[in-house]
Amino acid sequence: MEMLTNKELFEASSRLMPGGVNSPVRSFGSVGGTPYVVEKATGPFVFDVEGKRYIDYVQSYGAIILGHADPRVTSAITEAAAKGTSYGAPTPGELELAQLISSRVAGVEMLRLTSSGTEATMTAIRIARGFTKRDKIVKFDGCYHGHSDGLLVHAGSGVANMVVPDSGGVPASMASSTVVLPYNEVPELDETIAAVIVEPVAANMGLVPPQDGFLAGLRAECDRVGALLIFDEVITGFRIAFGGAEENFGVVADLYTFGKVIGGGLPIGAVGGRSDVMEVLAPVGPVYQAGTLSGNPVATAAGSTVLRLLEPASYLMLEGRAKYLAAGMEKVMLEVDLEVVAQRHGPLFSLFFGLAPVGNFEQARASVSKGVYPYFFHAMLSRGVALAPGPYEAIFVGLSHDWEQLDRTIDITQAAAKEARDKYFSASKKF
Ligand SMILES: *Cc1c(COP(=O)(O)O)cnc(C)c1O
Repeated sequence: MEMLTNKELFEASSRLMPGGVNSPVRSFGSVGGTPYVVEKATGPFVFDVEGKRYIDYVQSYGAIILGHADPRVTSAITEAAAKGTSYGAPTPGELELAQLISSRVAGVEMLRLTSSGTEATMTAIRIARGFTKRDKIVKFDGCYHGHSDGLLVHAGSGVANMVVPDSGGVPASMASSTVVLPYNEVPELDETIAAVIVEPVAANMGLVPPQDGFLAGLRAECDRVGALLIFDEVITGFRIAFGGAEENFGVVADLYTFGKVIGGGLPIGAVGGRSDVMEVLAPVGPVYQAGTLSGNPVATAAGSTVLRLLEPASYLMLEGRAKYLAAGMEKVMLEVDLEVVAQRHGPLFSLFFGLAPVGNFEQARASVSKGVYPYFFHAMLSRGVALAPGPYEAIFVGLSHDWEQLDRTIDITQAAAKEARDKYFSASKKF
């Protein structure tokens, strides 16, 4: 086959798939230009179809933590696949992954595996409604919980780049049972609320850590009115700590959702929590949920391999590297007068343009609306560093980003920041 360029492939894809992509943020819609089309990836690098190499900080939006194509994960996948890829019957592999998850997160007494994070959060909401026999849920502005109807209201990630805060195609009746409130403010709840769902560290509006008392305050309010607290740990789970958010903040939720890291780059999700709550699920209880590929043996083999390779020490290593990169990038950007704040929790961070710390989505939007990100993104990409093509995504440092690549990234950031600053100001924009 003759070699096609990024542009040729993306144009062909755009004729066949809306926007040329299977998930909106990949389209470069909020940064402009043509996406690189990935041929392969290894460790910290992705390679496009034209043979260009990038230091990759997308890492499948957090699904990859050991690095791309880690040989230990790849062989677990090929060994599992050789034994058959799906059976429609229970397997020892799904039990192993369930044990790994529940042994690390104390609040997860029982769990169910799904095929994506979206299914996990959608199921968590259904469980909460079935358990409490109430309809309303509370979510926070700028938190992303996947693309199910009731959760696509004022969501972060790719949704945040749209002109309207909500998705089309969601019935008003669905959206109206979702109450949207500002992150980092403990609301006063009432007895109509089935559940409060929250990213314990918000990572889809840039990186916004919870302020002191926010998560504990939510726990107390939920207890006061009999609502369930759901930690959506699809990004944070097994990334910010060995035991997840519970370990870092000392707050135990009723339900947890996971995805990304627990599949080692294969499609997976999980919803878990208190066993009395989880047992409302069919076939034990009246709340239906199912999946042909749920607990898929190849995905669980990949996920278990990744979790077994992550130790408490891995998180110290991850945090050390992210801290070094975040501080290094912030420093060289400030040196060339590109005002920026690096916000970080553990190994997750993001850059907010401007000098004001960001505590909620309104403040995140104010930073993004300065319009610096597209210039910075392209200045980095052209120098061989792939950040996410959207201003609300986190920067994912994994165990494959060694000191050499981190230093290279900081050097590149310095040159990219100068270019971004010059282009931004010559487009006569100002902070
Ligand atoms: C990615 C994400 C989801 C959705 O997971 P998918 O696997 O993309 O469906 C849900 N919640 C959070 C916090 C996420 O980051």
